[in-house]
Amino acid sequence: MSSAVAALPIHGLHALAYCERLFYLENVEMLRVADERVFAGRRLHVELERKEDEGEVLAMALESQRWGMVGKVDCIRRRDGQLIPYEHKRGRAARSSTGEAEAWWNDKLQVYAYAALIEEHSGQSITEGRVRYHADNVMVRVLIDDDAWRMLALSVARARELQASIVRPQVTPNEKLCVKCSLAPVCLPEEARLHDAVTGRWRDGGRERQGDGGMERWRDGGTGRGGEKALANSSGLSISQSPSLQISPSLSPPVSPSLSPPVPQSPSLPVSPSPRRKAIRLFPADDDRQALHVVTQGARIGRKGDRIEITTPVDLGEPPQLHPVNEIGQVVLHGFAQISTQALGFCAQHNIGVHWMTSGGRYLGAWSTGAGTVQRRIRQYKALTDAEFCLRLAKQLTEARVRSQLSFLLRADRQDSSPRVSKGLTSEISALPDGRATDTIEESSRVVTESIATIRKLLGPMSRVKNIHSLRGYEGSIGAQYFKALPDLISDEAGPEMKPNGRSRRPPRDRANALLSFGYALLMKDVLNAILVVGLDPSLGFYHQPRSQAHPLALDLMELFRVPLVDLPVIASINRRQWNADEDFTIAQGSKCQQVWLSNSGRKKLIEIYERRKQDQWKHPVIGYSLSYARLIELEVRLLEKEWMNEGGLFARMRLR
Ligand code: SF4
Repeated sequence: MSSAVAALPIHGLHALAYCERLFYLENVEMLRVADERVFAGRRLHVELERKEDEGEVLAMALESQRWGMVGKVDCIRRRDGQLIPYEHKRGRAARSSTGEAEAWWNDKLQVYAYAALIEEHSGQSITEGRVRYHADNVMVRVLIDDDAWRMLALSVARARELQASIVRPQVTPNEKLCVKCSLAPVCLPEEARLHDAVTGRWRDGGRERQGDGGMERWRDGGTGRGGEKALANSSGLSISQSPSLQISPSLSPPVSPSLSPPVPQSPSLPVSPSPRRKAIRLFPADDDRQALHVVTQGARIGRKGDRIEITTPVDLGEPPQLHPVNEIGQVVLHGFAQISTQALGFCAQHNIGVHWMTSGGRYLGAWSTGAGTVQRRIRQYKALTDAEFCLRLAKQLTEARVRSQLSFLLRADRQDSSPRVSKGLTSEISALPDGRATDTIEESSRVVTESIATIRKLLGPMSRVKNIHSLRGYEGSIGAQYFKALPDLISDEAGPEMKPNGRSRRPPRDRANALLSFGYALLMKDVLNAILVVGLDPSLGFYHQPRSQAHPLALDLMELFRVPLVDLPVIASINRRQWNADEDFTIAQGSKCQQVWLSNSGRKKLIEIYERRKQDQWKHPVIGYSLSYARLIELEVRLLEKEWMNEGGLFARMRLR
């Protein structure tokens, strides 16, 4: 084997036999989502090694130059002069048509591979391996014959083919495998199937193959004749009774990541669930891990055992706070907080994103180990250097944002038109004030109604633009209308000082704009965090242009969430009179204009409002399941990636209702 080619881990072959895409995610894109089953599988191995190392059993790490494989065989025993590899599995054995226990196909392949390694190292011929299934306490023999070597050779060749490819294989047609797969939350097979159902790529219960037809060709032994049956007929070996091989359902796959298709061509989907199938949720509805915001100036963040420790300056007289690492998803440092090297390394080890913001509320940047691999980046670069493709995505994105802005104004307009009707309105809208003077209500209503009418008029031409430049023009005009109406969504009782005067940033010139700017900075942090978790490059977007410090792809994706995660809760909080105009803001007179920032208490309040809003549930109109906004941010990044993997059509479908 050439030293330039990475050794193939035998557990990778096990994954390959389970699902080509799983092999690719784990062994090419290097994604790992360890779950309970993975850890349970590992524990089993540890126990076995401890229990059996005094007998004739050995746990042995082996490498084969000839096959280019590495692996650690559970144990090897000598029986009647023959060396026999043993593999231990936590689950149950497969059953033949007559009910006899037999090994699953992926377990057999693993045994073939161990036999190859032992043969090469010992110089002895290996004719048999054994698999022990602990759940039903049976030992199954695996014959190592010519067919076994042939299947192993084909499997290794297919694995090498995939390792050299930048195209992520399609999802398996066997949905049951996905339910047990620990990589399902990053693979999103149901969302791909939903796309296929709508576009008609599912036929006759199987997925229409594209590209080189990899798995079928590989599984049918290269015969192109319905493979396993041909193999079974020629050898009497019952690998499987169906065109699909029997794959162990108890797989505790060492799980991982991806590749992309060359031509991005995702047809648009209707914004309604497919009548043909309902997606099973394989994406977590919520994230148990929280963002840890450190806003005290001079605070120090360190590591203490398995916990993150926050120490505030001595003069505050506060005891150190300890946070278990498994409860933290992000650490956010506001202003002059310090973090130790040990804590940074600890965060990297546990995939905790670390973010810095200025004390003025500007987002500075992030520290993340990221999960990006070259294949994923190549796919992104290929797709996002196609101007037509970028325009299509940008249109989807701007339409989603504008429709959310429109919905927000429409809610307020309805509220103003019939203030007595509050039933059925959301809590945010119920928080809008009643009791204004009639002429004020009418005037407010008129401004909002006019803005709504203008935005509606602009929507049609915006959808027909031929280039990004024109799209920006329409989006700018619509944004101006939206911000013109925004002051009229704010109650007079909240006080004139809390009303925005248009949109101002760098610096914000009024309190409402200070709140919006800080809210957008928090949103930027979450979107960037999700992009890094998914492994895309935030510096290449499809709509925004590169500029200082702001990552274009993060700016793009933020558009989806500005209204529901920032505008709406900020306006609602003003109408609830949650803000103290003096204590929560710092006002400075600049050379040209007034500059308004949030004070320490103001930042704390908005962080709380924003983080609480992220936990609200939202139901996806196409996929049909509910999830928190916190999870939705990551889901949208993953759906975006699918746009250039021939699995698209679900990105930017969210609308504020
Ligand atoms: S979720 Fe399904 S398609 Fe995706 S890697 Fe796992 S088994 Fe394969």
